[in-house]
Amino acid sequence: MTFLYKADPARGEQWARLFAQKAPEIEFRLWPDIGDPASIRYLAAWQPPEDLARMLPNLEVVFSVGAGIDQFDLSRVPQRLPVVRMIEPGIVQGMVEYVTQAVLTIHRDLFDYAQYQAAREWREMPVRAAASRRIGVLGLGVLGTAVLERLRLFGFPCAGWSRKPRTLDGIDCYAGSEALTAFLARTDVLVCLLPLTEVTRGLLNAKLFAALPRGASLVNVGRGPHLNQDDLLAALASGQLRNAILDVTDPEPLPARHALWGHPRVRITPHIASATRLDTAVDVVLDNIRRHCAGEPLLGEIDRSRGY
Ligand code: NDP
Repeated sequence: MTFLYKADPARGEQWARLFAQKAPEIEFRLWPDIGDPASIRYLAAWQPPEDLARMLPNLEVVFSVGAGIDQFDLSRVPQRLPVVRMIEPGIVQGMVEYVTQAVLTIHRDLFDYAQYQAAREWREMPVRAAASRRIGVLGLGVLGTAVLERLRLFGFPCAGWSRKPRTLDGIDCYAGSEALTAFLARTDVLVCLLPLTEVTRGLLNAKLFAALPRGASLVNVGRGPHLNQDDLLAALASGQLRNAILDVTDPEPLPARHALWGHPRVRITPHIASATRLDTAVDVVLDNIRRHCAGEPLLGEIDRSRGY
């Protein structure tokens, strides 16, 4: 049984070591040294090779090394092949940490204090109770749910929005486009944890910002193209939005001259909110290979019709 890895080569070396320890029976190959292409049954990639169908005729499963699959051109992946995204505890832990710090940065007015510090001004602001700061997360998947479960422990009123109705303890759940306006109207800090699909592309735009309470803040940890960056700048200028924390931009890297870089009410990080943790990622992939061999359902298989 042969497994091919086609993503960051340095991480690939580490995958190779972990495979050798944990599953010596699997032959591990690191792109571009693929050996006999006909022997490859499993591929883990950030982006599959363009002529996947021709190049790897006996492939059985495609794994994404990231949590999303929006970087895949699914039209080039034969319909018969299951596509599995990365769901592993390291990604979840990283995202919970990142969004928690972002929400607390906004909640505890650290944007304002950064400006006071720059002006060497010792100035206090009234502390607002967590119970009066309403958090809303777009996306109630693996990450959105984990983030909300942590944020509710601080006492923030928490809500989430998904496509299909969900029920979660202590979290107000909204579903579908008809419920979006009501969800936004009760949200002071909006966190985007949606997958990027044709439906969600550009969703964070002027119309959506107008449905939030005046002075709300945005945290985008989904994908850059979820956000219309010009609309964000306009909403910050008008005061409709107060702060934005962006881990993702469009394009990436954000060009050095872009107005978002120097905006005093914007914080930018270079797509580092969370990353796959090698040991747990390899465990999850090996478990899925075992499942595949046993004819069991794969964990994290995407639904092509939904695009995530
Ligand atoms: P999941 O697939 O588990 O969850 C996606 C959620 O979004 C689901 O609740 C789904 O609804 C909801 N959703 C999708 N489309 C719509 C829609 N049209 N309307 C309403 N809700 C919708 O994904 P994860 O939680 O694992 O990850 C989410 C995203 O986070 C990834 O796709 C990626 O873009 C981003 N990410 C960013 C990282 C970073 O470092 N910045 C790292 C990892 C991920 P339903 O429940 O009904 O299916």
